[in-house]
Amino acid sequence: MRRILLCCAALLCPFFVHAVEVTSLPVASNVPGGVAIVETAMTATEGHYRNDKIMLVDFEGTQYAIIGIPLNAAIGEHSLTLESADGTKVTRLFTVQDKLYVEQRLTITNERQVNPNNDDMVRINRESAEMNEAFSSWDETLQPVFAMRAPVDGVRSSSFGLKRFFNEQPRAPHSGMDIAAPEGTPIYAPAPGVVRSTGEYFFNGNTIILDHGHGLISLYCHMNTIDVAPGTRVEAGEQIGKVGQTGRVTGPHLHWSINLNNVRVDPALFIQD
Ligand SMILES: [Zn+2]
Repeated sequence: MRRILLCCAALLCPFFVHAVEVTSLPVASNVPGGVAIVETAMTATEGHYRNDKIMLVDFEGTQYAIIGIPLNAAIGEHSLTLESADGTKVTRLFTVQDKLYVEQRLTITNERQVNPNNDDMVRINRESAEMNEAFSSWDETLQPVFAMRAPVDGVRSSSFGLKRFFNEQPRAPHSGMDIAAPEGTPIYAPAPGVVRSTGEYFFNGNTIILDHGHGLISLYCHMNTIDVAPGTRVEAGEQIGKVGQTGRVTGPHLHWSINLNNVRVDPALFIQD
């Protein structure tokens, strides 16, 4: 009954319900690449962090802002803004603590995957714009689920955030979790969502982007096969593809990343075995 009343109220007043009800929270980790969970102490209708919209959730009757902290975030105090239905804006602060991410050095035999040529760069820029568009999706019709199962049975590395060197050249830090498994191992959706896009990309190989709603988006790379089409609704545990070694890899594995407010955060904070 309460749900029906809320829905009716939402229809009458589009500014009424903006926090989505969730059944669990991710693990809070106030470090670069982590997730900050901040109690709003109000009924906020919208929130922003670094100009990006952030997720507001209702968990057991309390409203929280769930914020993805970028890997390049400065250590110290950060602020978010919250807005209420009457337009009042308030600021909330949270502290980001230091985390040491060590270096990882990898050897790639395909030199073009380390130093792409001009044609490759045109392709890479086009693909990264395409993926960015999917990462900035904001779908309020989906109810995010934070309690995820690992998408593949395999050896989970703790490689998120590592400072990477390919053939001794510095590159962007590792923005996901690598799970090693033999080629052909099934990959399952770790949580319900909608297939936002699929593609065959220069670095990421065969790729799927799943939208779980309210800015929670996951990415699956280097797949052998993609078993779902864009726009398809998938449930937790449904097979979406198979492990492969397409794109820039040193062997078969799944690269899995989680995005919140278009920020890559540590997938380990979402796995609940
Ligand atoms: Zn990876």
